[in-house]
Amino acid sequence: MRIDLHMHSNASDGVLAPADLVALSHRNGVRVMALTDHDTVAGLSDARAAAQALGIRFIDGVELSVTWHGKTIHVVALAPKHFAPYEKLSTVLSQKRRARARAIADKFNVLGIDNMYDEAIALAGNPLNLSRRHFAMALIRRGVVKTEDEAFDRFLKDDGSAFVKTEWMSLEEAMRIIGETGAIAVMAHPGRYRFKNGHTVEELLEEFKRLGGRAIEVTTGSHFGNESEYFAGVALRSEFFASTGSDYHGDKATRPEPGMQETLPSHLPTVLDLLDD
Ligand code: AMP
Ligand code: MN
Ligand code: MN
Ligand code: MN
Repeated sequence: MRIDLHMHSNASDGVLAPADLVALSHRNGVRVMALTDHDTVAGLSDARAAAQALGIRFIDGVELSVTWHGKTIHVVALAPKHFAPYEKLSTVLSQKRRARARAIADKFNVLGIDNMYDEAIALAGNPLNLSRRHFAMALIRRGVVKTEDEAFDRFLKDDGSAFVKTEWMSLEEAMRIIGETGAIAVMAHPGRYRFKNGHTVEELLEEFKRLGGRAIEVTTGSHFGNESEYFAGVALRSEFFASTGSDYHGDKATRPEPGMQETLPSHLPTVLDLLDD
């Protein structure tokens, strides 16, 4: 059975509308899916309706942006029972994202690439959830770069020439909201984090667990090399339930489509064991 508990629609920085993402998941044989847009729950009701019509089990989700020791990490909340705290958060963050987008556009201006704010807005499915990815898309459209990777490498990555640092919420605050809304906290793509100043992913996971974290993504479209194997071991040793997701955004040939990420090793307890029905 194909399961995919991490993907993006155009309610955040994915390309497909929620219903189209569900239809693609269905074509790929996905039977259980979660939509986990960045910092917004705006796509969930459309996705749920589409999933119900196609007989897919749908799990509500959201991927929260968190700053931990100066680095951005992502925590996925699955199956919240209350949505108002996320809606409130989205309102605050949409302003933060807009202010950041203006600052990024100013940096592009200095680099001789003008009008990037309007182009990024025009490419965003949800103008309240402006992402660096929308700038990458705009750069491709203008022919400044050929791929999103090139856009990030040349301009948008941390410390890139058009990077603007953002302070997201703390891990404590994210975990408090997740707890209050009755959701399950899943550490997204733990293999992707590279910390400086002596901090490690092991320390992050320890703190996450202490604050109520229950699961980690073991197989994900955002893991490479032996990362899935490594985090399967971590899940076992540290007693985390295992989660899995493509992290599909819609247009990157090198990333798996919905449901097409590596399957979970069968010996691991999965996050589905923590969910009702
Ligand atoms: P933001 O949350 O607006 O800072 O944007 C971060 C988003 O950019 C992530 O959610 C990814 O979808 C995307 N991203 C980060 N690095 C890359 C990359 N090298 N290539 C393409 N997309 C990336
Ligand atoms: Mn993204
Ligand atoms: Mn992520
Ligand atoms: Mn994601």
